[in-house]
Amino acid sequence: MRYSRAFIPTLRETPSEAQAISHQLMLRAGLIRPLAAGVYSFLPLGWRVMQKVMRVIREEMDAIGGQEFHFPALNPVEIWQQTGRVDTMGDVLFHIKNREGLLLAPTHEEVVAFHARQHIKSYKDLPQIWYQIQPKFRNEPRPRFGVLRGRQFTMKDSYSLDATWEGLDISYEKHAHAYRRIFQRCGLRFFVVGASSGAMGGSLSQEFMVESPAGEDTCAVCSQCDYAANAEVARSAVDPTPRMPDSQPLERFPTPGVRSIDDLVHRFALPEERCAKALLYIADGRPVMVLLRGNDELNEVKLQAVLGAISLRPASPEELRNYTGASAGSIGPVDLPTPMLIVADERLRDANELVSGANSDGYHYRHIDLQRDCRIDLYADVRTVQMGEPCPECKAPLRIVRAIEVGHIFKLGTKYSEALGAMFLDEHGRECPIIMGSYGIGVERIIAAFIEQNHDERGICWIPTIAPFHVHLVALALERDEAVRQTADTLYEQLGQAGIEVLYDDRNESAGVKFNDADLLGLPLQLIVGPRTVGSGLVEVKERRSDRRHYVAPEQVVETVQRLLAQLSEAGCEIAS
Ligand code: ATP
Ligand code: MG
Repeated sequence: MRYSRAFIPTLRETPSEAQAISHQLMLRAGLIRPLAAGVYSFLPLGWRVMQKVMRVIREEMDAIGGQEFHFPALNPVEIWQQTGRVDTMGDVLFHIKNREGLLLAPTHEEVVAFHARQHIKSYKDLPQIWYQIQPKFRNEPRPRFGVLRGRQFTMKDSYSLDATWEGLDISYEKHAHAYRRIFQRCGLRFFVVGASSGAMGGSLSQEFMVESPAGEDTCAVCSQCDYAANAEVARSAVDPTPRMPDSQPLERFPTPGVRSIDDLVHRFALPEERCAKALLYIADGRPVMVLLRGNDELNEVKLQAVLGAISLRPASPEELRNYTGASAGSIGPVDLPTPMLIVADERLRDANELVSGANSDGYHYRHIDLQRDCRIDLYADVRTVQMGEPCPECKAPLRIVRAIEVGHIFKLGTKYSEALGAMFLDEHGRECPIIMGSYGIGVERIIAAFIEQNHDERGICWIPTIAPFHVHLVALALERDEAVRQTADTLYEQLGQAGIEVLYDDRNESAGVKFNDADLLGLPLQLIVGPRTVGSGLVEVKERRSDRRHYVAPEQVVETVQRLLAQLSEAGCEIAS
């Protein structure tokens, strides 16, 4: 492609609307342009990257026996009503206003179950893996960070149909394998976490995460072993609160003005691990007291899961006073005027010699024995894991990181096949619901996540597999220097014949502009042809990421480029693994 004829609107300045690095660079390198909130057009360079990522996905999906479909984005609302998702997905669904009964699909479980009902009749028709790569529509309340969270985005979604649960396990493992290959080949450093399956239903799911400050998920990742988990379920091997041999008699003591655990610790010289912090929450309209050790932080998602509550919120100051007779900082599990559920963090299990509020402003109790002085209804892990705590598997320090979810695999089970009547006859002639799995990858998210991990202050650093072109041929002063033009034209032709994709900067621009654009676009190799190098009979080959330079004779360029691209492709996979 000749740059002089290409549509590559690069930007010198960082657009003020873009916070995430990937968003800034995708705009600056002319890969995308916004059309509306959360809606982006892919320009030619960006679309080339999309197509390359989709090619990798197709190859790996085909390799596990996937068959490519193309399902419509327009869906009859009826099938979404049958699974109950018109209600559970609520505002995320885009409904069509002037054609009642149609919506824009945010995912395709319903459509797959619909077609399976029509044509899968017997266990002999199973297993199947169906996939597609297609736009999805979700009315995200907060579209953010460019294409990382859009209202229209491209998903590779696949669905496994099996006759048995063992079959589902196999289909799921095949996907886990394909996903690892896809993300590796696309140059992503990723980790896998177990996740709750949310509105999807089903029993087991895993997410593929890419560490990045632009991520919207928080995860705990072990610095040594494979342990990684979403903060909402992460555990750590923090030490419990040991039970002292003797419990002293319970004692109420004045603590005027104490508002926090730190106040207590400092003013009364108490060890932090002997302080029990009490919080009051309202779960489905009822008060719940939560006890945590010292300055441990409550994880509301864990608490909500433990309680099985539909709604959960901190109590207001009025509610605190009504239920406990005190304000925050003076509440505790002993002498509660209103009976309520008390949940204590696992770390406090059966502890004694604790200090906590006395449910009277300005007073606390000491020598509390949780076995003797109050009733703990439930011990559960409800604390938030903190940076540096020991890994639950190997005790090495955990890191707490932000991460982008790039893929998600679910064992769905029979929820959708039952709702839509997708049944088959098993070997004994019994009618059974098809056992489904559902698997998604965000194509744009792969690209943005890659850029988050592979850039420097000058621009993007692509790997050959997903770069829009392989080589940026920078010809300097070619409008003045015939030898340069001839050398560059010849190289362009030779490389093209060798199947190497070249972006040929033949514009009438200064060297500075060309170098800046080349580094911003970030193609893996730059070929620099200028009056000086041509004069000395050499061409400069620059590796974009490492800035390593090679000087070779024009006849050796094709071979050198092929060798370097092969090396960089391998390195790309290695970086990722
Ligand atoms: P999130 O928690 O980020 O909203 P999700 O759990 O809703 O994601 P899935 O329904 O599992 O996502 O969709 C599969 C994949 O589609 C995700 O792993 C992600 O890569 C991609 N994806 C989901 N929502 C968006 C979006 N709004 N914009 C871009 N990609 C998305
Ligand atoms: Mg979502």
